[in-house]
Amino acid sequence: MKIKKSYVKNNPCYKEGKKIQVKGLMLHSVGMAQPNAGNFIETFNDSSYNRACVHAFIDANDGVVYQTLPWNYRGWHSGGSANNTHIGVEMCEPATIKYTSGTTIKCTDKEDAQKAVKRTYKSAVSLFAKLCLDYSLNPLGKGVIVSHHEGYSKGIATNHADPEHLWSGVGVDYSMSKFRKAVKKKLDALKEEKTKNAPKSMTNKDCPFVVTVTNPELKIRTGAGTNYEYTGENTGDGKFTIVEVKSGQGSEAGWGKLKSGAGWIGLCYCVRVE
Ligand SMILES: [Zn+2]
Repeated sequence: MKIKKSYVKNNPCYKEGKKIQVKGLMLHSVGMAQPNAGNFIETFNDSSYNRACVHAFIDANDGVVYQTLPWNYRGWHSGGSANNTHIGVEMCEPATIKYTSGTTIKCTDKEDAQKAVKRTYKSAVSLFAKLCLDYSLNPLGKGVIVSHHEGYSKGIATNHADPEHLWSGVGVDYSMSKFRKAVKKKLDALKEEKTKNAPKSMTNKDCPFVVTVTNPELKIRTGAGTNYEYTGENTGDGKFTIVEVKSGQGSEAGWGKLKSGAGWIGLCYCVRVE
């Protein structure tokens, strides 16, 4: 999922710049046969457009997320109190649908319409998982992830049918409950990836451990800190076993004692490999 920043800086909502504590996420769809996010962004990015403002549009042609407001800005997307708590994201809708009356949809090309709807759904799942990670939200928590339609049932949004009407209208088997479960699954994967990629800790408790250095000219000192004398030796490239860690000036990550007995090195310039 790609996120492109396209802030609508001319929109009065952006200019107002009110901040919120993000407590949830609201999913919308635009309610017209317009797949192109750029089209909405152009309309919204106008100082006279004071009717609405959302945090992002998901393009139905390529699934790219166009972020139109900083996530912690108060948007104008729900028409109710959800604006004070929820980020609002709009999925664009396929060009191959037609609104016959109200929220009733007819597909002019069902296969194409379903493809586009699947694309925006997939991006929305990824985006919502990322936002749940960033704002420590539980996707299955009560009222955390809601559709505009569900927001209406909860009394925090105006009477709209989106986006469920789109899903049933083009005949895909999606629901908000499935959506939330998909976000949870994606979030779990993101969390796992984050732990896997997190730098391994280099504390005294972790000793002994092995590091490589990001700078082969790394100075070896007689003690744990730049206030200790330089031994005249540098590490050079290679793997080094650290047997003790102490804090000391000049290296926020602490200082590591080399097993070789040559002295101490700043762990700021080390990456633990074993
Ligand atoms: Zn809506």
